[in-house]
Amino acid sequence: MTTPPQAPEIPGAKHVHSGKVRDLYELESGELLMVASDRMSAFDWILESLIPDKGKVLTAMSLWWFEQLGVPNHIISTDVPAEVAGRAVVCEKLTMLPVECVARGYLSGSGLLDYNATGAVCGIPLPPGLVEGSRLDEPIFTPATKADIGEHDENVSYDAVVRTVGAETAAALRDTTLAIYTQAWRMAEERGIILADTKFEFGTRADGTIVLADEVLTPDSSRFWPAAEWAPGKQQPSYDKQIVRDWLQFESGWDRTSGEAPPPLSDEVVERTRSAYVGAYEQLTGRKFSA
Ligand code: ATP
Ligand code: MG
Repeated sequence: MTTPPQAPEIPGAKHVHSGKVRDLYELESGELLMVASDRMSAFDWILESLIPDKGKVLTAMSLWWFEQLGVPNHIISTDVPAEVAGRAVVCEKLTMLPVECVARGYLSGSGLLDYNATGAVCGIPLPPGLVEGSRLDEPIFTPATKADIGEHDENVSYDAVVRTVGAETAAALRDTTLAIYTQAWRMAEERGIILADTKFEFGTRADGTIVLADEVLTPDSSRFWPAAEWAPGKQQPSYDKQIVRDWLQFESGWDRTSGEAPPPLSDEVVERTRSAYVGAYEQLTGRKFSA
């Protein structure tokens, strides 16, 4: 499907938006309740199969990172209605900036596609000879426009961001994105994980403060690779949704170009994906995941 299923009703909360993975509600206080479902998206489709506990893992992981990072964030509390306990946060309602703030320290995904086509990513020229999984000399800011559900985010140049949000905000987004990526990359590296790339979303408060929002540094918004197995020149094994992407593309018999919805995942793929999400959480945080 390309539209999310109807969000569950939560007393005292008014449903205002559903994305591919999260449902947003407004509370009587004016604050937002952001609920992470167990939905999984791949190739811009929302899959029919759910990954048990995924929403809880993503929520716990984001909260752990928000605590580590020294930047203003949107979290107000984890005191949420019982029916969404563990998978929801109360957060500030921000005016979201229409830029997907991506940092890349390694080449993969749409970055690699751009590089192979143009020798650059988002207009940033890179040296010749780089391959899938190559480490870049320094991390780069490769913004994208936020696409509607079912559409693909599109990489854009830094100048395009300046035109959209102004020079001062663009510079702040770039600098903050690269600073957080670098901090998180170091922390992940100490735990045997390569943070290849990641995407942040920021919003502004009424007073203009730029605040880190949405989810952060989860397998849905990032590529995490086991450091011990990193070998440029091939697809890296990963903790993210690569398991699902690979199965859909190479084993399920689904034709991505057919325009038809992907088939339900096999039980084995669901379980392997759940384990990958839980494993990433436990390895990063050093905490045991409990549902
Ligand atoms: P994807 O992340 O796969 O692109 P999506 O962006 O369509 O999916 P979700 O991530 O499922 O949607 O939903 C979260 C939505 O909530 C996003 O539109 C995000 O911009 C928005 N959001 C996150 N934090 C805040 C906030 N503090 N205030 C207002 N909106 C927010
Ligand atoms: Mg999102």
